[in-house]
Amino acid sequence: MTKKKKTVGKTDVDVILIGAGIMSATLGVLLKELEPGLSIEIYERLDIAAAESSDAWNNAGTGHSAFCELNYTPEKKDGTVETKKAVQIAENFEVSKQFWAYLIEKGLVSNPGNFIRKIPHMSFVWGKKNVEYLKKRYEALQKCTLFSEMEYTEDAKVIDTWAPLIMDGRKKDEKIAATKMDLGTDVNFGSLTRDMFSHLKEQENVNLYFNHEIRDLKKNKDDNWAVKSLPSGKAATDSGK
Ligand SMILES: Cc1cc2nc3c(=O)[nH]c(=O)nc-3n(C[C@H](O)[C@H](O)[C@H](O)COP(=O)(O)OP(=O)(O)OC[C@H]3O[C@@H](n4cnc5c(N)ncnc54)[C@H](O)[C@@H]3O)c2cc1C
Repeated sequence: MTKKKKTVGKTDVDVILIGAGIMSATLGVLLKELEPGLSIEIYERLDIAAAESSDAWNNAGTGHSAFCELNYTPEKKDGTVETKKAVQIAENFEVSKQFWAYLIEKGLVSNPGNFIRKIPHMSFVWGKKNVEYLKKRYEALQKCTLFSEMEYTEDAKVIDTWAPLIMDGRKKDEKIAATKMDLGTDVNFGSLTRDMFSHLKEQENVNLYFNHEIRDLKKNKDDNWAVKSLPSGKAATDSGK
């Protein structure tokens, strides 16, 4: 987010958002809700919104809540499992869900089924050491209410009902374990981004420029920012926007 310097012949705007992905869409909607008088310009070098990382084909769509991501809960040297990061991420995702619920209630984005779906988040491990880790992780996370619905099992029959393909052809004596959180979500960030921009574009003093690339930004002495954009594909000159 930058502020643009007021210069004769160039536009003056409160906020510039660079790139039309989920981050700019979220920040733009939040700012406009909190400060409706703000003027906002969004510059995207491609010809549509959410065509890079936020597009559904370019990310896994996991609603990251730390329910299944084992890398958020490392095992410490003393053998205990660190849950601080996982708890923080689970809390942050709850805040995101509250924000999206607010957008739906106010009619700012369309049907929630278009961008968020419930899907169980599972972790599956094999081998004695990994099973011990998953059990410790499960027990440590139980101290936080956000994880209270997590289920843990070492029973092959139960895992077979959760994820039959994973169990297909597996050795009977193999040590395995799994956790499952039915509260998990699958998010289409691309659809959500495009919904938020559709709403933003209808707001007063909001302009979205596709095929425009930001080539330079400089902080002025007065703490405002000078930002240079060009139609995508053009060579840089001093012409500004
Ligand atoms: C393989 C993969 C899997 C992922 N899986 C998940 C997941 O499961 N769950 C999850 O929550 N997150 C996941 N992520 C992360 C998530 O997709 C990104 O964090 C998120 O989409 C980033 O949003 P963004 O708006 O910052 O970026 P983007 O959506 O990439 O938007 C940036 C935009 O800026 C434009 N742009 C760039 N430079 C300029 C410029 N100079 N001028 C004008 N426009 C410009 C680009 O064209 C683009 O449209 C994954 C990411 C990847 C790559």
